[in-house]
Amino acid sequence: MDDVLASQVAAGEVVERPASVVKELVENSIDAGARCIRVEISRGGISRLRVVDDGCGMGRADAEMCLLRHATSKLLDAAGLFDIRHLGFRGEALPSIASVAHIDITTRRAEDVEGTRVTCDGGEMEPPMSAGCAPGTEICVTNLFFNTPVRRKFLKSDETEAGHVEHQVKLHALAFPNIRFVFSKEGQGVFDVPATHDLRRRIADFIGREQAARLMRMRPTEAPGVRVHGFLMPMAAANRNRRMQFIFLNGRPIDDPIVMRAVKDGFGGFPTGLHPGLFLYLEVDPALVDVNVHPAKREVRFRRPSEITLAVTDAVAATLAAHARGESDTEAPAPAPQAQTPPAGAPRTPFQLRPVLEPSQEELPLPPAPKPQPADAPADSPSAPVPQEDEPDLPNFRHIGTLHNTYPVFENSEGLVLLAPRAARERIIFERLLAGNKHPLASQRLLVPEILEMDARDMGIALEVKTQMEQAGFLISLFGRNTLRVEAVPAFLPLRRVAAFVQELLQLFTRGEVRLNRSRSPFEPFAMQLARQYARQEDIEPLLQRPLPLLAELLRCEIPYCTPTGKPTLLPFAMSEINRKFQAQ
Ligand code: ADP
Ligand code: MG
Repeated sequence: MDDVLASQVAAGEVVERPASVVKELVENSIDAGARCIRVEISRGGISRLRVVDDGCGMGRADAEMCLLRHATSKLLDAAGLFDIRHLGFRGEALPSIASVAHIDITTRRAEDVEGTRVTCDGGEMEPPMSAGCAPGTEICVTNLFFNTPVRRKFLKSDETEAGHVEHQVKLHALAFPNIRFVFSKEGQGVFDVPATHDLRRRIADFIGREQAARLMRMRPTEAPGVRVHGFLMPMAAANRNRRMQFIFLNGRPIDDPIVMRAVKDGFGGFPTGLHPGLFLYLEVDPALVDVNVHPAKREVRFRRPSEITLAVTDAVAATLAAHARGESDTEAPAPAPQAQTPPAGAPRTPFQLRPVLEPSQEELPLPPAPKPQPADAPADSPSAPVPQEDEPDLPNFRHIGTLHNTYPVFENSEGLVLLAPRAARERIIFERLLAGNKHPLASQRLLVPEILEMDARDMGIALEVKTQMEQAGFLISLFGRNTLRVEAVPAFLPLRRVAAFVQELLQLFTRGEVRLNRSRSPFEPFAMQLARQYARQEDIEPLLQRPLPLLAELLRCEIPYCTPTGKPTLLPFAMSEINRKFQAQ
């Protein structure tokens, strides 16, 4: 197999699309100690992409060598394989790229009087020439995959490829805030983020200052060979996708299920479908990681995973705990030059009701906990769960009707919002149950206790569930060997058919449909089921009569947008979307 073919084979692993070329070139620039890296693309980077840095540059001999396979300058000895401080170490990227495109390298070391230019076309190298140029390296790649048409066919539209490149550059920029990154496409500037020592500022350049101000700085956590730092978004600002989740390992973005799992454990689990924003930086002794699992290097293999996952879980949990104690760890980012922040490009999620309700000048670290309810609310009053004030604090929302006698419809400055009352109640009840996590919730005694006959085989699980039920405000006693007596119910949940309700709830657990021991706190999965079952059987007619207080109460929840199981509670329709659909202006 000749070298060009070998390189093309290697290119199959390294070069998948323009974004992967950019990744390799930018990594080289970072390794070269660049302070500023510029990336320009046209036609998604397929027809042309250019990476310019002000790094150490190459002398003539190195410039000639760098296109040869395994010509890395970074792997000094065999032991070096296990002690990788550079991003690149295989000496495969440049020859791979050169084998499937036209590549043009102009480079100069600061100490040399003149630079060198080498070009290579589909693996055919031209003799090097002298070039006048600034210190640093400029690499231009044109006509990607011109000689491998099948690969070229796998590329997506120019816009999609451009999107991947932009994301790639953004990842590098987040990993190395002390380097200035400039990205442009089709000759137009997309971003230019100045070098900074302040990580939050770099993050703010991408997510906007308002969002960045909500980030909680993680307490740097150290374990032998591991350091964890970064920022977390509060759960209340969680997204429905993972777009705001970034994890870096020694300067490389990683997408690793083990680390993600550790983060999730630190949060004590994520509600279904919600993904809190995070910018997590792991500094791990290179001896403890094997980054060589896949050339694209998004996965890693840890030599001692448990030490790393423990450090991550602890760091996340400690940050959230400190935040919950109200220790100030959010702070405004240093002012970022407006021209360099691309807030317009930030995707708007449909769930932007909160900022409207909580103006940004009110920098509460967490939304207020659900209001405590009077413990002696009469159990037969259907409106007991809803706050009684008639002027709910929602100046922004106007109730404009009810769709099919099922969904209240509201208008606000952003457009239209539909409310699902049962789902809303499920969320509200769940959070109220959790708010009483520390002390059992208030009970309402039944005039006549309800008797439940149990199957002997179910008693074990029933007794486990009984503990959780008492936490929620039920009072249940053992009455004979296989009989339970319900003596009181939660004060804030007026139950109509107590025996049937409790029976059904218990059955979820005795039939094994739901388990308590999966979570750190068994009360949470229990509260989820209780809230769900209660909301299902509740009479919603009174709620439909007075939907504004219900909406107000929902919006006071920590995560108002969905039920604990992840079903939506609100459906927003933004004016911009409606206008677009009508093709108005
Ligand atoms: P690797 O990064 O694995 O060493 P590459 O094929 O990416 O392999 O690069 C080969 C070599 O070319 C590098 O080891 C480095 O010496 C040199 N090189 C590549 N890009 C640059 C750059 N931007 N500045 C200075 N040297 C570079
Ligand atoms: Mg490299």
